[in-house]
Amino acid sequence: MTNDQKYDYLIVGQGIAGSVLAWTLHQRGHRVLIINNSAAPASSKVAAGIFNPLTGKKLVRTWKADELFPFAHRFYTNLQDSLRAQLLHFCSVYRPYRSIEEQNSYWAQTAEPSLAKYVLPHANDAKYADWVQNQYGGLEVTQSGWVDCGQLVEKIMSFFIEKGQYVESDFDYQSVGFQENNVFYKNIEIKKIIFCEGFKARENLFFDWLPYNPVKGQTILVDIEGYAIPEIVNQGIFILPLAQTGLFRVGATYSWHDLDWHTTPEARQFLEDKLKLLLKVPYRVVDQQAGIRPATQDRRPFIGVHPEHSQLVIFNGLGSKGVSLAPYFAAQLADFLEFKNEIDPLANIERYFSLYFHKKNP
Ligand SMILES: Cc1cc2nc3c(=O)[nH]c(=O)nc-3n(C[C@H](O)[C@H](O)[C@H](O)COP(=O)(O)OP(=O)(O)OC[C@H]3O[C@@H](n4cnc5c(N)ncnc54)[C@H](O)[C@@H]3O)c2cc1C
Repeated sequence: MTNDQKYDYLIVGQGIAGSVLAWTLHQRGHRVLIINNSAAPASSKVAAGIFNPLTGKKLVRTWKADELFPFAHRFYTNLQDSLRAQLLHFCSVYRPYRSIEEQNSYWAQTAEPSLAKYVLPHANDAKYADWVQNQYGGLEVTQSGWVDCGQLVEKIMSFFIEKGQYVESDFDYQSVGFQENNVFYKNIEIKKIIFCEGFKARENLFFDWLPYNPVKGQTILVDIEGYAIPEIVNQGIFILPLAQTGLFRVGATYSWHDLDWHTTPEARQFLEDKLKLLLKVPYRVVDQQAGIRPATQDRRPFIGVHPEHSQLVIFNGLGSKGVSLAPYFAAQLADFLEFKNEIDPLANIERYFSLYFHKKNP
């Protein structure tokens, strides 16, 4: 690196968060440098990439869905056009009812206009009946689909490598030097450093006081005999058709205690037990993956500026919804950096500043 290197933003970590933010800032004309350790494990490498406005057993509408989803659709459509890669796959999520009681309760819930706009009036149950158990019918959620996160990260990495704006390395916190308005990283002068480190942010010297609640997740990759459903099927687990491979991702588990990146036989058993109940046809497991979701205690993102060093910024805490949250909040952070527009108070790390000061002066 030469000593005349100057950037507007140094982005540390390039999973979904770092990728989407780097792209957003670059599109707005800022000079961005990425530092990333691509050999380290990343949640984005194993994410199914599903975006789904109605989730969970209770069919809960995703926080800010009305704003997040149209925004994300536009963002990924423009991104894939610019990068000439198929990253975005629109498809509905078919949810077979487990019982008559569930059918009744979902019908009552989805009569409410704020949910009704996300479901089809009549699901095409016959289309699924050869492969999945759906004797009580099912609900079809719309405005959903999935993003190929692995490819998105790779394509954005190649884009910045070609521009000479990507450094493959671990970030060294000891090499940060503050100036009044700028900050130095080694011999690079930058306006702001933005940390997008996912789960590893817990080791970040400047932001380790934020209350994470990381969740390990595992998926299996399966080959399903004769299965020809292009939609996502979801009943406790999801079955996601992977473009071009002929394989399906099945997931996911949630565990809060064994926070490592290793797959376990228990998780595989759990997923297979659910899959056997859902499928009418045989399948074969070909692979298994594990990752750690950078979730937070109040289930809202961590976005904003360090309490004492205005040159340090964080964009993290996307939890299990990185694909839906990242585009909207990257734009919000960019608006804050450019125009001082407000960051959503529920996402702004200011809500935890007391933890920082308490840690400093216990
Ligand atoms: C099994 C599973 C399924 C999931 N399915 C979905 C889904 O269907 N839909 C959805 O929206 N989300 C899903 N998620 C969640 C999703 O993976 C996360 O929301 C998202 O990937 C978080 O992205 P991130 O960029 O914050 O973190 P990461 O993807 O972990 O990326 C962080 C990057 O920063 C790098 N890094 C960290 N520290 C440093 C450092 N100091 N120096 C250099 N580099 C560094 C890491 O190496 C990594 O490359 C799933 C997660 C799991 C585990």
